[in-house]
Amino acid sequence: MKICKCGCGNLVKTKTAIFLQGHNGRGRKRPEYEKKKISETMKRIMTDEMRKNRAKIWKGRKHTEKSKRKMSLAGKERERIKKEQGYTVSQEARKKISLSQKGKTLSKEHKRKIGKANKGKIISDEQRKKISKSKKEYFKSNVNPFKGKSHYKE
Ligand SMILES: [Zn+2]
Repeated sequence: MKICKCGCGNLVKTKTAIFLQGHNGRGRKRPEYEKKKISETMKRIMTDEMRKNRAKIWKGRKHTEKSKRKMSLAGKERERIKKEQGYTVSQEARKKISLSQKGKTLSKEHKRKIGKANKGKIISDEQRKKISKSKKEYFKSNVNPFKGKSHYKE
């Protein structure tokens, strides 16, 4: 092991090393104030650079946050409009469908088809009884619009 070339008297850490870490500039003849000045300049530059970078990062983050918020708001607004429009459209569509259905008159062909389809249905006696019972139940619990009224004025 060699002794550090800077003259500090310490042994270097490795066989190939000439100086201890950070000692290689010690032997240079440079006034202390200049070194200090350079160091301070470097520090200042570094600080400025760091500050700039930090500002950049911060600005970037801020922008991103802002964008995120903006995007979020835009998204929410879009969702709201979509919901609103969707609701309006569906209401409008429902109305249109309802109107078109009301105005629809079944064609003879259509009626015939329905009739044929219904004729093909086999209703068992049990089903008939059930239907009859349920209808009776319905009129028991629901007021018959003709109840107590006469079709003809007496
Ligand atoms: Zn040294």
